[in-house]
Amino acid sequence: MTENGAATPLVVLADVNKHFGNLHVLRDINLTISRGEVLVVIGPSGGGKSTLCRAINRLETIDGGTITFDGQPLAAEGKTLAKLRSEVGMVFQSFNLFAHKTILENVTLGPIKVRGIAKAEAERRGMELLERVGIGAQASKYPAQLSGGQQQRVAIARALAMDPKMILFDEPTSALDPEMVQEVLDVMIGLAQEGMTMMVVTHEMGFARRAANRVVFMAEGQIVEENTPEEFFTNARTDRAKDFLSKIL
Ligand code: ADP
Ligand code: MG
Repeated sequence: MTENGAATPLVVLADVNKHFGNLHVLRDINLTISRGEVLVVIGPSGGGKSTLCRAINRLETIDGGTITFDGQPLAAEGKTLAKLRSEVGMVFQSFNLFAHKTILENVTLGPIKVRGIAKAEAERRGMELLERVGIGAQASKYPAQLSGGQQQRVAIARALAMDPKMILFDEPTSALDPEMVQEVLDVMIGLAQEGMTMMVVTHEMGFARRAANRVVFMAEGQIVEENTPEEFFTNARTDRAKDFLSKIL
């Protein structure tokens, strides 16, 4: 159960700003993510989408505004930060699996080291999660022996193994061969249907239409438009979004 009432949003960003030197990468970002919500973030390269993801789990500091997670302001360091990291799963474009660990070890490492769960229990649960993403038979293999789509499903199982309150996906299918995209999206759609809170940076319109509650269009560090997927893809309000959509659709 959540520590705070179901009515409080899981994530609240208020006037968040971030610079890299002279580059103003996040500009007055105001964004609320509700529990169980699936938010798709879409927009041109360099618009700040990855920085936004990284700011939410504090892989990146911010230099203005506040980010509140599960009712608590995010600390820059210390115990709350470690807790936050274990509560927010992250799935990247490059799968980031540990190359010298087996698939099962990749999934059990966090629960054992960070959560202090007994090895046998972590392995039981790890196998369950690997089965769920369709990789059970590969548990004793190493990442390089798996296809990109399989590796990304392992990365999702690894995130789930920590029992996160939310998972951030940063272009999870962008590095995949086209024929492997759907198997990863199917796992994500399943998670969405089970009520996982998700923020997903993706240009996969099919996923957005099927799974997203809301689409946020980001460009030049700003949230330019926020809409339902249906409205956004058929009837974008801003010229900036229309222009972008005309290039990707
Ligand atoms: P997106 O994910 O939408 O493509 P990013 O958040 O990766 O955008 O990047 C936003 C801008 O910030 C880009 O101009 C990028 O070059 C710049 N940037 C990202 N990370 C860094 C960094 N660590 N140092 C300097 N500039 C960065
Ligand atoms: Mg990015």
